[in-house]
Amino acid sequence: MQHNHDIIIVGGGMVGAALAARVGHAGFSVGLVEQGDAPAEPSGDYDLRISSLNARSLAFVKASGTALPEERSCPFRHIDVSNQDGTGHSLFSAEESGMDDFGIFIENRTLQYALWQRLEQLPSVTCYTQCAPLNTITSSTGRLLELDNGKTLSARLIVGADGAKSTLRELAGISVSSYDYHQRAMIINVETELPQQDVSWQVFTPTGPIAMLPLPGHRASLVWYDTEQATQDREQLDDEALKAAIEMAFPNAWVTSSASSPGPASPSSASTPTAISANAWR
Ligand SMILES: Cc1cc2nc3c(=O)[nH]c(=O)nc-3n(C[C@H](O)[C@H](O)[C@H](O)COP(=O)(O)OP(=O)(O)OC[C@H]3O[C@@H](n4cnc5c(N)ncnc54)[C@H](O)[C@@H]3O)c2cc1C
Repeated sequence: MQHNHDIIIVGGGMVGAALAARVGHAGFSVGLVEQGDAPAEPSGDYDLRISSLNARSLAFVKASGTALPEERSCPFRHIDVSNQDGTGHSLFSAEESGMDDFGIFIENRTLQYALWQRLEQLPSVTCYTQCAPLNTITSSTGRLLELDNGKTLSARLIVGADGAKSTLRELAGISVSSYDYHQRAMIINVETELPQQDVSWQVFTPTGPIAMLPLPGHRASLVWYDTEQATQDREQLDDEALKAAIEMAFPNAWVTSSASSPGPASPSSASTPTAISANAWR
């Protein structure tokens, strides 16, 4: 059977686009199916969705020929992790581990845009935007994917990278078990008194982790998990009160000077596919 592609990837977020770029760069024919549009170039203030890419993930992205904009990413060279109750504290140094850095912090949208720029350069990759899967059919030689735009694609392998509520996972009959942590995270971008930090700082509390992630220049991203009620109360604070609360909870060594763009609180829950062994994020 003649397939359209070696591999079809459903979902062009960070994960799907990274895989498409990597296997496309290696010469495989890839069809990337994305329900939205190709991402737009990020500009202006930093977005609230920030991710750390560890050194190995960064190497994976770079090996696809993707160029990441250094001015919108921040390397981290120390990892400071502790329990709030004082029962444990670890400080890791990249230098002591024989590395230049442990990885980078980068906006999700900046990473996704850079990957899509690379996809456009790769003749082996075809992006199908504004369409989604309706059905998959297995044949003896491969798999067919029916799309809601009337097209049917075929490949030897179809990869589901369509996020936490994956349609492809449902079509494949993989169930999930879900549970709620009863925690909510508030994400806040702040300006810091000190210039660019290189420490990824995280404290585990009985009501969830709090973290300070460095961004370029005098910026950082705070991730503040707490009970649902405490987070809702914190969302009602005015800027001055929120700033005071931040200065109480986050390290004095990296004193925050002004909070900007507190993000919508996101509920914290985990869905673990029963057929796959997976770790909940942090
Ligand atoms: C506060 C917070 C902080 C986090 N920090 C980190 C971190 O530091 N490091 C880390 O590794 N992870 C982190 N995570 C987790 C990380 O955000 C997710 O694991 C990551 O976004 C998953 O990327 P993805 O590409 O798989 O999915 P998504 O980003 O959800 O992308 C899915 C893509 O598939 C498309 N899509 C969806 N459905 C369909 C469909 N039916 N058909 C076609 N296309 C479809 C969507 O439009 C989207 O483009 C964090 C999460 C949160 C909430």
